[in-house]
Amino acid sequence: MTTRTILLASPRSFCAGVERAIEVVEQLLDRRSHPVYVRKQIVHNTHVVAELESRGAVFVDELDAVPDGATVVFSAHGVSPAVRSEADRRGLDVIDATCPLVTKVHAEARRYAARGDTVILIGHAGHEEVEGTMGEALDRTVLVETVEDVARLEVEDPSRVSYLTQTTLAVDETTAILDALRNKFRGLKGPAEADICYATTNRQEALAAIAEESDLVLVVGSTNSSNSRRLVELAHKHGTPAYLIDDASGVEVDWLAGVRVIGLTAGASAPPRLVAGVIDWLREFGPVEVVEREITQETIHFTLPSTVRNS
Ligand code: SF4
Repeated sequence: MTTRTILLASPRSFCAGVERAIEVVEQLLDRRSHPVYVRKQIVHNTHVVAELESRGAVFVDELDAVPDGATVVFSAHGVSPAVRSEADRRGLDVIDATCPLVTKVHAEARRYAARGDTVILIGHAGHEEVEGTMGEALDRTVLVETVEDVARLEVEDPSRVSYLTQTTLAVDETTAILDALRNKFRGLKGPAEADICYATTNRQEALAAIAEESDLVLVVGSTNSSNSRRLVELAHKHGTPAYLIDDASGVEVDWLAGVRVIGLTAGASAPPRLVAGVIDWLREFGPVEVVEREITQETIHFTLPSTVRNS
């Protein structure tokens, strides 16, 4: 039987912000005797949410499902000031697991809006991170998703425009949108570097390095995970069929027909053990050789919020 090669993209799977957010909930579950509520999915992964739920975490969509005075964790994607105010008004014990890199984007939004700029946020409508960031300066922020959106955009004062980006975008598409913005608004200001985070960038570059050699790409991640979906799109751009799977059970045997080299990666919210599960599942269909292709080592680690460290 022919040996299949699995090209394992590295870095892949959990980023520092996701590890931190999960640890926040785990530590609270260990230390608190009363219920721990979490607003929205702590990170966009069905397995992570199910595991924390099985340990006692209560996931809710909005704060009105949280009893007055209860402990509530804000997810890694961040919240708008309106949500914070509501939590204050209700006397909730808030533990904020927002990724520090998202918090940085919120601070930029406040700073740009405070100096009177129109803030152009490059991102995806409806994503929780986008809702949170826009909420920092709702009346001064506009969302653009495509180059076409930029062409249609009208702002109050074209000489006072700043941009921000969602942290989990496709690097190449964002570059094209930014170029269009710079052409349209000559005085465009923004962060020193676009806010697409290190983890998103590294996972895209790691996949780009193996996509063309692969006959098939499997991306482990949930459908609501923005950075995982961008990885599937990236593989398609390299001309390789690619699928997003929550775990090994999502792989269809038909996909493997005639496939000798499988590229395997995982979005930043997908647990590493699910990748190992896919490799084990593939072994059931014949011998496999696993080759890891590491483009860089990630050493970033975020400390836990002081409210958790000191509780
Ligand atoms: S993907 Fe980036 S911004 Fe999002 S949680 Fe991970 S490190 Fe933070």
